[in-house]
Order: sequence, then structure tokens, then C-alpha cells
Amino acid sequence: MAKKKVATKAEREHMNKVASLGCWICQRPANVHHIRPIGLGIGRRSSHYDTIPLCYDHHQGQFSIHNCKQQFEDMYGKETFILQEVKKLVADMEQANDLFNFYNTHKGEI
Ligand SMILES: [Zn+2]
Ligand SMILES: [Zn+2]
Repeated sequence: MAKKKVATKAEREHMNKVASLGCWICQRPANVHHIRPIGLGIGRRSSHYDTIPLCYDHHQGQFSIHNCKQQFEDMYGKETFILQEVKKLVADMEQANDLFNFYNTHKGEI
């Protein structure tokens, strides 16, 4: 098993944003699932940025990405595809936050 590296603050913030999206499949409260990038050798680990939100059932339940990956991907799409979509959503969320912060810091000037 790969050694777990402690997440940096930025990584934790990213994972919080991912989890806050809710389960990718059913929108229930979610934890993050780490995508294993293709072609990584032994000792390499997946990045905390390569995470998607999944609830317990879809993450570790009977028909989850961990227990039934083939079926899971047949039904919901490849995890690498889901990752791309999740990254887009988080980027949108960050942009919205930036705009919000910009507006708040420049209130009265605009
Ligand atoms: Zn997982
Ligand atoms: Zn779910």
C-alpha cells in the first residue's frame, strides 16, 4: 500500500471544495475518492487534486467505485472523465468566489 502523505492546506481546501459538491452520482453528502492516474509506478501516489466526491455507498458500498469499478464506470462513466468534470466545477466555484471577494474588497469603489 502506498504511503499517505499529509495534505497541505491548499490540498485540504481543494478537497473540501470537491466534497462540498456532494456525491457525483446522487448528490448526497460526500467524501473524496482519489483517482489513480494511469501509468504511475510503484511508490507514486495520486494527487489530492485528483479527487472526486462520492457518498459512502458509491465510494465503498456494494456497487461502489472500489468494489465494482467496471460496473461503476459502465454506468456512470470513467473516473478520469468524472475527474475532468469535477475540476471544471471547482474552477467555476473558485472563479465565483474570486468575483465575490473582489466585489467585497472594492465595495464603494465601483
Ligand atoms: Zn476511494
Ligand atoms: Zn452517491
